[in-house]
Amino acid sequence: MKEVRVRFAPSPTGYLHIGGLRTALYNYLYAKKNGGKFLLRIEDTDRTRYVEGAIENLIESLEWAGITHDEGVFVKDGEIVDVGDAGPYIQSQRLPIYQKYVDELIEKGHAYYCFCTKDRLDSLREEQRIKGQVPKYDGLCRSIPIEEAKKRIEAGEEYVVRLKLPKDKNITFNDAVRGKVTINTDEIDDQVLMKSDGFPTYHLAVIVDDHLMDITHIVRGEEWLASTPKHVYLYECFGWEAPEFVHLPTVLNKDRKKLSKRQGDVSVEDFRNRGYLPEGLVNYLALVGWSPEDGEEIMTLDEMVEKFSFDRVGKSGGIFDTDKLNWVNSHYIKSYDLDKLAELSIPFVVKSGLITEEEIRNNFEWYKVLIDTVREGIDKLEDIPEHISFLFGDIEITEDAAKEELQAEHVPALLDSFIKIVKSHDEIDLEVAKGLMKEVQKDSGVKGKALYMPTRAAISGNVHGPDMSNIIYLLGKDKLIERAEKIKNSL
Ligand code: GLU
Repeated sequence: MKEVRVRFAPSPTGYLHIGGLRTALYNYLYAKKNGGKFLLRIEDTDRTRYVEGAIENLIESLEWAGITHDEGVFVKDGEIVDVGDAGPYIQSQRLPIYQKYVDELIEKGHAYYCFCTKDRLDSLREEQRIKGQVPKYDGLCRSIPIEEAKKRIEAGEEYVVRLKLPKDKNITFNDAVRGKVTINTDEIDDQVLMKSDGFPTYHLAVIVDDHLMDITHIVRGEEWLASTPKHVYLYECFGWEAPEFVHLPTVLNKDRKKLSKRQGDVSVEDFRNRGYLPEGLVNYLALVGWSPEDGEEIMTLDEMVEKFSFDRVGKSGGIFDTDKLNWVNSHYIKSYDLDKLAELSIPFVVKSGLITEEEIRNNFEWYKVLIDTVREGIDKLEDIPEHISFLFGDIEITEDAAKEELQAEHVPALLDSFIKIVKSHDEIDLEVAKGLMKEVQKDSGVKGKALYMPTRAAISGNVHGPDMSNIIYLLGKDKLIERAEKIKNSL
């Protein structure tokens, strides 16, 4: 069997859309599952949409997500480089290649020069719109004899090259998700293949590159499904074998509309900046449009590779559900390597202003306990500050329930005992913290809820929260005394 070769072919328009990451992921999974290769190609033939730094950004987002490619465009030592034998992998560096193939199409009579001006095309479109027709090129330049066309080009006239589609021909291809698709050429436009600036359009470049790069499966968003018949016809014109087509359902929001930047987070960077872990985001995205046969939802990348197949990709749009993303991500937060999680969390905590990076670095073991203490209750790293703020600054009794607990008659004596026990230790390390409440119990004679609730309220301001011994350790001797005294004096 031929080696599987798939590609992700984004346009460098500024950022990696979450739907793009899912396309890259499915390509990656399929390549790995079949021992094949995954390529990254940059489709930058639309110069009006080019954004500086976008290629680096794309590669960096893919790397962050762990979706690594084998061939194509890479960044090495700050430079964009090609790796592989089928390059260049950036389309703007392949112009002579496209020119050669356009010339071949013209020669074979499958394409023609078109001299229609923008004004003519605009008024044609307007006329068709008024008549309620689908806007379509009317084929005016199809019949210009090639010699005449060449003379006009020599004389300096502006032109594009269009595909000469045969009339009333059914084009059929198989899509791994949609099944058999047939479209009649009368419903399709004579697509521009080469623009007046000498750049090919996507439609020409994509088929030339997929052929020359030996791509076996085209896995991409379903917005390209309607263009596929033109591509299939082009393969026919060149006498090339077309790859397999796999069009993935669009990633939709809860209102079943395309996820768009206007409604909030759509780029991989947005999710990264909110503290989603790469493993969580990728695991969740895999499930938007696909599910493994065993119904498992939490999977490592390797497990996904093992279970992946196109027959379990759904036809209808995949709904992006933030609650579910949070649920999946929280699973990874809970089980993540603590050192790594602590390291990743630093920018989020520092940004909140509660503590400086230097303080964190100087007390890293303490900081790890802090992160370990709150990770149970959070979905993503940006949630951390609100869960730890009670440990910083002055004690504030925020909950009515906490105020109530502190009203009980035995509380002043209990807090006295608590302060006495804390003072009896040189330092409150984890060991001491673990046994501290037992000591207070012995000393005060108060037990159970009557012991824990008011003490928790007095040192944290709340009646609920993380494990008491962790709070005791994290606050440390001075703060424990300061807080307990302040509350006691306020009673
Ligand atoms: N350059 C296209 C995009 O930005 C890729 C389409 C394809 O994979 O063929 O989505």
